[in-house]
Amino acid sequence: MALIDTVRTWVYAASVKGRFQKWHRWSGAALQAVLFLTPWVAIGGHPAFQIDVPARLLYAFGAVFTPTDTLLLVLVGLFSAFGLFLFTAVYGRLWCGYACPQTVFLEEWVRPIEQLLEGERGVRIARDKGPWTFDKTWRKLVKWSAFLLLAFVVSMTFVSWFSSARVLWLGQAATGYYYLVAFFTALMFWDLAWFREQFCNFLCPYARFQGVLCDDASLVVAYDDKRGEPRGVPGAEGACIDCKKCVAVCPQGIDIRNGFQLECVACARCVDACQIVMDKRGQPNLIGYNTLSGEQKLVRPRTVAYTALLTVIAVAFFTVLFTRPTVDGLVSRTPGSTYTVDADGYVRNTYLLRLTSHQTEDRTWQVAVDGLPAETQIIAPPIKLDAASTTTVPLVVRVPVAQLKAQSVPMQVVVRSDDGSLSMNATFLSEGG
Ligand code: SF4
Ligand code: SF4
Repeated sequence: MALIDTVRTWVYAASVKGRFQKWHRWSGAALQAVLFLTPWVAIGGHPAFQIDVPARLLYAFGAVFTPTDTLLLVLVGLFSAFGLFLFTAVYGRLWCGYACPQTVFLEEWVRPIEQLLEGERGVRIARDKGPWTFDKTWRKLVKWSAFLLLAFVVSMTFVSWFSSARVLWLGQAATGYYYLVAFFTALMFWDLAWFREQFCNFLCPYARFQGVLCDDASLVVAYDDKRGEPRGVPGAEGACIDCKKCVAVCPQGIDIRNGFQLECVACARCVDACQIVMDKRGQPNLIGYNTLSGEQKLVRPRTVAYTALLTVIAVAFFTVLFTRPTVDGLVSRTPGSTYTVDADGYVRNTYLLRLTSHQTEDRTWQVAVDGLPAETQIIAPPIKLDAASTTTVPLVVRVPVAQLKAQSVPMQVVVRSDDGSLSMNATFLSEGG
């Protein structure tokens, strides 16, 4: 199979209304609300979700994660992956049909815009087959402009997870962020305007794994061939009138009556299409959510194994979460500095002390230094640290030159508050004794 079908048949999905399309609207609206609002809604003084790469911090719904929380993030990743495996084993590709960003943007924006500007399926097919007239040209240009605008807004939103949304939209972010926006905009425009269902069929890794993630008891969209066949034969038993409405609405360009196919994203457009046909004939729908075995068995070896793994991961996550220190810190030497000798005979080292709160309350931290001679002086005011925030302050340590016996002396910077302390290793540099 070629990576990308060079003789691709363009899919002109007809519009359809129905129960499951309403579910699409709701799930699409909810997911887009999360996407578009998280960079703007502040929780605890930070965006609801932001990855601050330079500071190496992750803000997520009021919590702040530092590099020392890597284990927590790995556990979240594992829980998400095995959660998706379990969900897929039970509910098949409902993620693809209702929650995948590719489906959401195609269903909620691309197809409605296309239909508004270029008409229903038959009109679109006829116009595309015809010559490039003024009418065809302006419709295509306006449609592609709308797709480009959508791609730009989504890309800006995505990059806002890495930079302040306000700064980015005001044009004041670093140039690199705008290169990222340009790259994602171009990629998304290409996907929305042309690539579309080929992403699911050829590139999506989740789609590739369906064969191993699902079994006969997983939910799929299926055609009832026992009732439906023989199709379209006047006077015969088969209920399918071969109207091909289910095929016309399919965004993947497949005929679900040919049996389960990996291309099916379980969007249920064909279910709603056949419902309209069968309602008129006073018969039950021929297409619906079902399992290949005919029964949905929840307790199976793979669902039990996934549930057990999820339980272990969840227990590990909460154990790590509730036993981690209330504050994280990092001491680094001020860039470019080693030491200086002051006029009063003290050797001076300067550091940057970064503290990150994992607490839900504000705290004030006192700074001390262990491991240096008794006459050591510390210049560092108490650090007021807001809940779930991070701050960096300068720290100056001075030691009488006469008391220094080595060029590099290990020391510990200790911060203390009402309910805890944290010790961080550092070194004090001098000419030595
Ligand atoms: S066969 Fe039906 S459920 Fe599957 S992708 Fe096509 S319209 Fe959606
Ligand atoms: S919409 Fe229903 S009746 Fe029409 S072809 Fe599809 S399965 Fe048959």
